[in-house]
Amino acid sequence: MFSGNEGEVPVNTGSKPDISREKSAELYEKAKNYFPGGVNSPVRAFKSVYGTPLFIQKGDGCFVWDADGNQFIDFCGSWGPLILGHNNAKVREKVTEVMQNGMSFGAPTALENELAELIIKNNKFVEKIRFTSSGTEAVMSAIRLARGYTGRDKIIKFEGCYHGHSDSLLVKAGSGLVTFGETSSAGVPKSFAQETIVIPLNDTKALEGAFEQFKDQVAAVIIEGIPANNGLLMQDVEYVQFLQKICNDNKALLIFDEVITGFRLGFEGAAGHYGIKPDIVTYGKIIGGGLPVGMYGASAEIMGHISPDGGVYQAGTLSGNPVAMAAGIAQLTELLRSGFYKELNTKTTEFADSIQRFATARNYKFKVFQIGSIFWLAFTEKEKIQCAEDIDPASMEKFKVMHRELLNRGIYLGPSGYEVGFVSASHTKIELEKAKRAIFDSLDVVFRNK
Ligand SMILES: *Cc1c(COP(=O)(O)O)cnc(C)c1O
Repeated sequence: MFSGNEGEVPVNTGSKPDISREKSAELYEKAKNYFPGGVNSPVRAFKSVYGTPLFIQKGDGCFVWDADGNQFIDFCGSWGPLILGHNNAKVREKVTEVMQNGMSFGAPTALENELAELIIKNNKFVEKIRFTSSGTEAVMSAIRLARGYTGRDKIIKFEGCYHGHSDSLLVKAGSGLVTFGETSSAGVPKSFAQETIVIPLNDTKALEGAFEQFKDQVAAVIIEGIPANNGLLMQDVEYVQFLQKICNDNKALLIFDEVITGFRLGFEGAAGHYGIKPDIVTYGKIIGGGLPVGMYGASAEIMGHISPDGGVYQAGTLSGNPVAMAAGIAQLTELLRSGFYKELNTKTTEFADSIQRFATARNYKFKVFQIGSIFWLAFTEKEKIQCAEDIDPASMEKFKVMHRELLNRGIYLGPSGYEVGFVSASHTKIELEKAKRAIFDSLDVVFRNK
């Protein structure tokens, strides 16, 4: 049943029998004829966990159903966008209504104003914005804007932060004493990677060093509002304040990539959480209510450098697409209801805390890191994990077992131990309780305690 899988599935007492995945496996075989690795985005291929990808047939609330009819409580939420859960009625109705008038015009519509107003009125960190069709595009454009605005070429990014797949950002830390980054993908010219300096998170000396070495050459420092693409690497507020100060002192811009954290930690994302005003902010995921939308924004002065007002070119055939705008309007309207985040975040804290209590009581080397409605299940003893280096790759073997046990117990997590999970407004106490039990049992299996 688990075809196309490297490595034997370890036999654990207490493991559940595997669910039927015949239809998904069949669809995957077919998909491999059409797409590299059978998928349209690499992590979906289940390379880091057992088995082949589940093909999803439908979602409703906190549930998804696969092609074999298995039902799961979903904590992936399409990788973050679905903060209200799957197939939310308000979002669906608004999208259906707007679709009646056509799908795209390549001309302005009132819906763009409406979504922009919702955002700008309720977010003190942006005065003007530009919509794009993905997070990658938003970040790529923000980098160009920073370079255009400062007239400088170099950018500083952090090891363990993901910012989409544009060339400048597919760069990882160089080995040894090399300060420049190395490309993390074939096809990115070395000369591009030379413009990106990669340093560890939570390391003030490294950042000071980079600014000294590249004095007056750094256009921007980019960081995920709260790094959540390589585990959940929560930074201390003092460190983020330091980032802002060193950028100001060096006349470099601070870019918060809030594609995950925007509208997730709160309506104002990580900037609101820390009370820090970045120079440019990028959003994606939640902003589109499940349809493809990204956005970058800044002060009116900085945004004045974007074409047609300024010399930094950026465009998009489907940018501000009315159907996508409709989904964003409907979703963000719900998020603005009073108490929305408090309830969601409290629910997630209780969920995370009770899993942690269970693991601690049994002396499992396991930690749940959580902020807002984001959580990360980590097989570690460390109290804090704040940079990529602190993650032990060997711990991912345990996640692999856990992932399989959870699928077999009706719980869907993103198929990699480096990925975070999301709780949505549609997860009720009942499902969270069920999920907790499944996690407890799976932990027992992982640690072979049953
Ligand atoms: C998902 C993500 C991106 C890329 O967004 P896409 O819509 O996948 O292009 C960029 N930055 C961060 C922080 C993300 O989480």
